Amino acid sequence: MAWEAPPRPMSGDTPIRDHVRQILSSLGEDPDREGLARTPERVEKALQFLTKGYAQDADALLNEALFTVNYEEMVIIKEIDVYSLCEHHLLPFFGKAHVAYIPKGRVMGLSKVPRLVDMFARRLQVQERLTVQIAEAIQEKVKPQGVAVVIEAMHFCMIMRGVEKQNSVAVTSCMLGSFRDQIQTREEFLSLIKKKHNGLG
Ligand SMILES: [Zn+2]
Repeated sequence: MAWEAPPRPMSGDTPIRDHVRQILSSLGEDPDREGLARTPERVEKALQFLTKGYAQDADALLNEALFTVNYEEMVIIKEIDVYSLCEHHLLPFFGKAHVAYIPKGRVMGLSKVPRLVDMFARRLQVQERLTVQIAEAIQEKVKPQGVAVVIEAMHFCMIMRGVEKQNSVAVTSCMLGSFRDQIQTREEFLSLIKKKHNGLG
């Protein structure tokens, strides 16, 4: 699959905490002062948590969560929290994902959709790839008539630089199958995710 996860970065022999300690020194800090003494260990744990999606895969996640159901209308899960790390700066980006699909005899457990989003978000990402990965995973595993994913997110690497970019929200979308082929389906989805919108921007 074109957008399958990149291989987990090599961990090497040196623990992350040692690298973090080196970074602190390189920044001109004293890694032994009280406030920083346990920072390398904390950063290591945080990075491991925030990238734990590398150790998960869609097959295991959706195992036993696909059901045969005679329902062929749109299923939408709106406003799923997204927290990820941009792979260019290792800074967070966060926002909301909206996911829809039209089943073809088979549905996935509703609770699995946010977990699928999380699985891909907890890797080093760019928002565009994250969007496509979620859509393609559902397309491949559920084989529905179509899938749509929209993500709206704010990126710390933009927010923390440049005053004029402080409130900008990046919006990405991926439409597959009937969402790509049928304007009416796509517009129904887009109007449904706009309703009672409590998102950013
Ligand atoms: Zn960035």
